[in-house]
Amino acid sequence: MEEQELIDKIVKGEVKFHEVEKHVDARKATELRRRALEVLTETQLHNLSVFSIDVERAMKANTENFIGVAQVPMGVAGPVQVKGDSANGLYHIPLATTEGALVASVNRGCTVINKSGGAISFVTQDGMARAPVLKARNASHARESLNFINRSKDKLKEIAESTSRFLKLEGIQTWIVGRNVFVRFVYKTGDAMGMNMATIATDEVIKFLESESGLKHVALSGNVCADKKSSALNLIMGRGKTVISEVVLTRDVIEEVLKTSPEAMADIVYRKCLIGSALAASYGFNAQFANVIAAIFIATGQDAAHVVEGSQGFTTAELTEEGDLIFSVTIPSLQVGTVGGGTALGTQREALEIIGVYGAGEPPGSNATKFAEIVGAAVLAGEVSLIGALGAGHLAEAHVRLNR
Ligand code: NAP
Repeated sequence: MEEQELIDKIVKGEVKFHEVEKHVDARKATELRRRALEVLTETQLHNLSVFSIDVERAMKANTENFIGVAQVPMGVAGPVQVKGDSANGLYHIPLATTEGALVASVNRGCTVINKSGGAISFVTQDGMARAPVLKARNASHARESLNFINRSKDKLKEIAESTSRFLKLEGIQTWIVGRNVFVRFVYKTGDAMGMNMATIATDEVIKFLESESGLKHVALSGNVCADKKSSALNLIMGRGKTVISEVVLTRDVIEEVLKTSPEAMADIVYRKCLIGSALAASYGFNAQFANVIAAIFIATGQDAAHVVEGSQGFTTAELTEEGDLIFSVTIPSLQVGTVGGGTALGTQREALEIIGVYGAGEPPGSNATKFAEIVGAAVLAGEVSLIGALGAGHLAEAHVRLNR
């Protein structure tokens, strides 16, 4: 079929967007879909068409009905000094964002952290959760099925782990509500964020549970995972990686760089991040976790929807006996990977390479842990800088100066 004929057929709906590859290769299909869309929407889509992405790869793993790319400006902050279990050194932080002043803010936070001796950063817990909901005949049957699940843990582990070279079933958490059974499977997934791996493993486990326990499978995700939703459960129990990053900010550095005082910063964290968030019944007991996490996730090919979970967590700031400020962030649910998902796409891969964490680690999982520790330090930098700006009364002025 001629190109123009194919475009006409797409416009008329005779060839669906997802059917174009039946007639031409993936790259040409991308162009023809976009040209048909230009006709349908009376637009010029030149900017969408300028990209270096490997179309075949993107269409295999990352998108359908590919028409081009959304470009997001990327800046770099840092380097920031991280003293972690896996990360140890100075790391540049690529941030993809359209929010002016964000990169400058994180950069300033990195300066403050470095002048204070670096950020301690570590992962306290690691486990990607998938929690299906199953239906029992009645509440008694639901209770019996929990006993069955407990007795079958070794078998469930064997089934789950047969689906991947890297996945390990680490825990099984259960709840019953009436006759509804929720089973939250928690997996270690190597250097991958793990959501596909967890879903595939859980699907196999559920087939066994259905056939052996009489439970009826309702949905592979019963929302207790809790994937891409705000939840107290993830705040308390964690999901993905739980990261803590901490720095002791000296009074001198706070006064010199942030133009405020340890007392003012501690007061703001208490009244804003703790009381204010409690008043709002928010799980984001922090200043701007989501800003930094979103910008790193977009830059490095993480699943951007996981920002909702990453936005939850705690910032603390307390005066030390010496009059300095011990400042920390705790991120209970940070979903990051250095393999899989969008990490292998061109710009995303390069952003991970800037940090020095692209690809598989040795031992498996060590690269993703290192990345999580560095993200923790970057989030810490964002918190230090924003709380400092609020202490100095500079927030609005900085946004005006940087033209937003
Ligand atoms: P993935 O893209 O499915 O890739 C993981 C693969 O990498 C596995 O096949 C694994 O091998 C392989 N691998 C190679 N080296 C590895 C290493 N060192 N550590 C771990 N795995 C290694 O990755 P994923 O993280 O599981 O899934 C991420 C994707 O899931 C994202 O695109 C996200 O948007 C999407 N997602 C899916 C769901 C869902 O319900 N399916 C929900 C939310 C998000 P094996 O074959 O041996 O395991």
